[in-house]
Amino acid sequence: MSKRVKLDVLTRSSRQKNCSVGPASTVDTEASRFFKNENDVKIETDDSHPKKKKSSRKQKSSPDNGKAATNCTPKTEPTHPDDESLSKDNKSWFPKNWEETLKNIRIMRQHRTAPVDDMGCDKCADDEAPGPISRYQTLLSLMLSSQTKDQVTHAAMQRLREIKCTPENIVKISEEELGKRIYPVGFWKRKVQYLKSTSKILLEKYNGDIPNNIKELCDLPGVGPKMAHICMQVAWNETTGIGVDTHVHRISNRLKWVPKPTKTPEGTRIALEAWLPKEIWSEVNHLLVGFGQEICQPQRPKCAECLNRTICPSADKNYQF
Ligand code: SF4
Repeated sequence: MSKRVKLDVLTRSSRQKNCSVGPASTVDTEASRFFKNENDVKIETDDSHPKKKKSSRKQKSSPDNGKAATNCTPKTEPTHPDDESLSKDNKSWFPKNWEETLKNIRIMRQHRTAPVDDMGCDKCADDEAPGPISRYQTLLSLMLSSQTKDQVTHAAMQRLREIKCTPENIVKISEEELGKRIYPVGFWKRKVQYLKSTSKILLEKYNGDIPNNIKELCDLPGVGPKMAHICMQVAWNETTGIGVDTHVHRISNRLKWVPKPTKTPEGTRIALEAWLPKEIWSEVNHLLVGFGQEICQPQRPKCAECLNRTICPSADKNYQF
């Protein structure tokens, strides 16, 4: 799409009824920053990194400091009781200005400059490897990615691929070696156990491939609904649901894309799937994760740079133009 056509799209959308965006000329000027100066958008680190989280501090000992933990804590992706009413009852409910908001996010994300664009789970597997191996590596990268920056996950996957990242090999190598290769991903000790157990199950039950459905993926140690839905999309090219991580959860609540505030990512997934057209599900995770990494960050979102600042219910009213 040419630059002029892209600008026309924004101009048209700003004129839509109920849209509270300012005059088209003002919006065009703002949008043009995203077309002309892609480097204007700085990549900053995600403040949700486990190093800054109290609960993850104990996991930060080096693999050289001792053997990997032997106990696997059961995985959980809980729904809060308050979120359980956010089911498909809300079919007639749609957030205000959601199409305009989505268009603006697509414009802000068009240059694909966020960490997730270069180092997301879809960039971690060896595309040249046979299908089952490539899918296995995608699943592993998702398992490593929870509570971990994309850069750290990607680097860990590169170290695993150096030693032939197959279920056979992950089962065979020592826990110490595996720990050294994935460190410093968040909860690395626990993930050593998850990777070992899951690889063993995949060899025994799936001939080294991964399951092709949500239920069996979620039955694997260390795999929850968010990972399973993204895995179905990336590994099997099948859209089964929206992958909701901390970025999607936070931004959906800021934009009021949920009828009432949700307390868990799983609650947000249920609420989003109740109204968001299914043809958009597959792009939501990637779109919002990158938007959350670059602009709508956990701490100090860059509202002054955001094309949604005049229609976002959570925009910082003190932003500077
Ligand atoms: S205006 Fe601010 S809070 Fe709203 S989407 Fe943009 S960056 Fe996020």
